[in-house]
Amino acid sequence: MNISVAERRQIENEMIFRRMNEKVGDGLGALDAMHIEDGDPHLIRDEDVLLHFKCECSNEECDERIAIKLGEYQKVHVNRDTFIVKLKHQVDTIEKVIKTASKYNVVMKNNSTPEPGKELNETPINNA
Ligand SMILES: [Zn+2]
Repeated sequence: MNISVAERRQIENEMIFRRMNEKVGDGLGALDAMHIEDGDPHLIRDEDVLLHFKCECSNEECDERIAIKLGEYQKVHVNRDTFIVKLKHQVDTIEKVIKTASKYNVVMKNNSTPEPGKELNETPINNA
């Protein structure tokens, strides 16, 4: 299925925003691992804590935040075609809303587009 350059670009914006959010999640995971290592498991955030993730809509100017539980965020993104956007930030030409929560929509791409850079990043570091 063919999509226009503009649509492709919108989808790529969403992927970039999602990657930024996932870095936050990964960073928190690393921090928790450090707490365990240091023998301070009580410092670990429980997954019910609200985090302010960036809206993952296709508008690169959008700077809105969505307060969402880390566990909830990660559950949505088990599916790689889904993104979390503020209410009304979805773009009907490239995505459809599959779930509406009180503060955000979960959208799914109309076309399954491969994530840019994904293949390139898979270069194995194997110098043995
Ligand atoms: Zn937005």
